[in-house]
Amino acid sequence: MSSNVNIPKLPAKNKSELTEQVFQAIVDSGETGIFQTELCKSFSIDSRDGSRLVGNLEKQSLISRERMLYKGRWTYKLIVKKIPQLKEADRRPIEIASVEGAPCFSCTFQHLCSTEDETSQYSPAKCNWIEEWVILDTKKRGLSTQL
Ligand code: SF4
Repeated sequence: MSSNVNIPKLPAKNKSELTEQVFQAIVDSGETGIFQTELCKSFSIDSRDGSRLVGNLEKQSLISRERMLYKGRWTYKLIVKKIPQLKEADRRPIEIASVEGAPCFSCTFQHLCSTEDETSQYSPAKCNWIEEWVILDTKKRGLSTQL
């Protein structure tokens, strides 16, 4: 199994940009996904940093990770999450434009943030930064702010 994804080798200026570029690469890999080792190699990031970065994307429920053997070594297959409540024919990967500029990409509490741990004080459901970003982004797009 291989991932045939062309990843642009853009120099990332900061962690937030790098995270967005990595997420975009995973989105671009579509339903087949991409191996974590290949992704790290393409972005010239070491496996520990790469693991932390994609782990944060997983915690935010943007991607899923599945442990697999690849070229004789254990790694993860990274696949963008789908919108579960839609019918199979209507399912689409998340568009990068819809999460562009999201505070999560540069959040210092990313490692503590969870959609599953209800005891965590950091989660998208309780986050004021996400709420402010959604309101601002909605205004920027000229959409209704009656959320
Ligand atoms: S605390 Fe808020 S901004 Fe930070 S990762 Fe969680 S949801 Fe995103």
